[in-house]
This record gives sequence, structure tokens and C-alpha cells, in this order.
Amino acid sequence: MDQKQRGQARDGWNSGLTVLAGPTAVGKGTVSTYIRDTYPEVWLSVSATTRPPREGETDGVHYFFIAPEEFDRLVAEGAFLEWAVVHGQNRYGTLRRTVEEAIAAGRHVLLEIDLQGARQVKSAMPDARFVFLAPPSWDEMVRRLRGRGTESDQEQQRRLETAKIELAAEPEFDVTIVNDDVKRAADELVSLMGLTPHARQASH
Ligand code: 5GP
Repeated sequence: MDQKQRGQARDGWNSGLTVLAGPTAVGKGTVSTYIRDTYPEVWLSVSATTRPPREGETDGVHYFFIAPEEFDRLVAEGAFLEWAVVHGQNRYGTLRRTVEEAIAAGRHVLLEIDLQGARQVKSAMPDARFVFLAPPSWDEMVRRLRGRGTESDQEQQRRLETAKIELAAEPEFDVTIVNDDVKRAADELVSLMGLTPHARQASH
């Protein structure tokens, strides 16, 4: 690809697909939940996972919670646009057909996935927008991870180690958004997607 073509692909960002990735505990899930609740015009992909649901999570809304055997079957069928083992534990994957249909229908498609998945999408769909969600600082990220309190110490340590490696991947992305405030970061993301952020409500 020569420089001009690359420039056009970047300017056009023409696939209708935006990929949001970033280190563990940076708040990708919180930003995507906010977008799910606030921006129905964004088509947020629902991933399949072998992880069991957490309290408050609904099958088909937050994830499709499936058995490992079912995940194997979908991998064998080539049903995933990308998939990865995250934190050395559970498998997560993006269902190719629904994403391709949404793109073809002209929807503003958003994937919130891990870095390994983002790299797979980059080789399959290089014209997508690749957005890196960064923490305001390392200390803030550690604080958020510990504050979540849903994982054991061992699990937290494992996630921090993954996060250090993931932070180094920032230059692979087109744009970085700092998650200093969920609403602000989400608004910046929807602007990048070509949508108009909703007016802020006055805080009470
Ligand atoms: P959690 O288990 O906390 O919901 O998510 C753990 C990690 O899995 C997060 O970093 C999230 O971005 C990532 N993830 C969620 N869905 C997918 C997916 O479909 N593919 C990949 N590669 N990662 C995913």
C-alpha cells in the first residue's frame, strides 16, 4: 500500500468498524456499558465467552455465555472474526456473521475486546478504527483494579502483569483516549465514530 492509499484509508476509516482495546482494568467495560445505555445508535458487538456470568450479567446482553464445547465448535466452523484466551483463563470471541451484517447495514459497529483480539481484527480488517483506551496513570489503574474487588489477589496480580504488557501496545493504535472520566471518554469515542455526542445533562 503506498502512502496515498494509506492516507485515504485512514481519512475514510471506511469499514464502519471501531475496535476499542486497552489494558486490563482501564475501564473498557464501563465505557462500553455507558455507550450501550446512552447511544443506541452504536451497534455494540456481544461476544461469546466460556466465562461464567457475574452477578447482574444477562446472557445475550453482556455476553453469550457458552460451554467450552460450544466454543470449540464455533472455532472449528470459523464463526469467529477473532477470539482469544484472556488472562490465561477463559475464551472470548467476536461472532463474525453478526458483525459483518451490522457493517453491511451501515451501522456504527463497536467491538470492545482485548489486545490479542484487536491484533487479529487489524489483520482481517485493517481499515477499521483502532482506539486505545489508556488509564490516566499506572497508580490509578492499580487502584481501579483493586477497587473492583471481584477477583482474588492472585487473579488481580495476573491481570496487572497482563496490563503492563498491554500498555506497551499503545503505538499500534490509531488513536488514544484517556479514560479520566467515563462520560467524557465515551463522548470522545462516539465523536471519533462520526456520531454527535449527546448534550451533557447538568449534574444534580
Ligand atoms: P471480563 O471477563 O472482565 O468481562 O472481560 C475480560 C476481558 O475480555 C476484557 O479485557 C475484554 O475486553 C475482553 N473481551 C471481551 N470480549 C472479547 C472478545 O470477544 N474477544 C476478545 N479478544 N476479548 C474480549
